[in-house]
Amino acid sequence: MKNLSLVALFALAANPVSAEETRQLGAHEHGVGQLDIAFDGTQIAMELRAPGADIVGFEYEAQSVDDRAKVDAAVATLARPLDLFSLPSAAGCSVVQASASLESEEEHESHGDAHAHEDHGDEDHADHAHEAGHTEFHAEYLVNCADPAAASVISFAYFDTFPNALELEVQVISDKGATAFEVERDAPTLDLRGMF
Ligand SMILES: [Zn+2]
Repeated sequence: MKNLSLVALFALAANPVSAEETRQLGAHEHGVGQLDIAFDGTQIAMELRAPGADIVGFEYEAQSVDDRAKVDAAVATLARPLDLFSLPSAAGCSVVQASASLESEEEHESHGDAHAHEDHGDEDHADHAHEAGHTEFHAEYLVNCADPAAASVISFAYFDTFPNALELEVQVISDKGATAFEVERDAPTLDLRGMF
């Protein structure tokens, strides 16, 4: 039951009220993302939040074919967690669930949806809207590992994949409690062996 409760807490934390989320988007620092990692029996739950600037290099609403393609490619890349946060093969980990999306502080609808109501004649209004907001990519993962104790050294290929990303503020939750780390581009490894 202890293990189950960790997952439940993590799921709750992943769904803040929308007002709080808006505040967080405005407060984010470009170059710095957040990664929460919860070890829970044989499962590892992860949640990533990263500024649009870090992942695709812009935070305006993607409208050109190129920009939309960048967003789509980023979402697809973010849905492959073990390519971004590599775990030792000895741990025998595989992805159970992965989802990624782009969130904007200005819109309630997903950026992935079609904008049938868009007014292409009102360019001034559209340009103004582009300057205002921040966006964040949000991804959630569930990984299962045959030997989770062997998954305690994590290599952050994330920084190779996303050249604008400089740092991840990492919070690790296990049955030993929660510990905060900062993983930076020039030392992209997290060694958790002391925690097990
Ligand atoms: Zn921003």
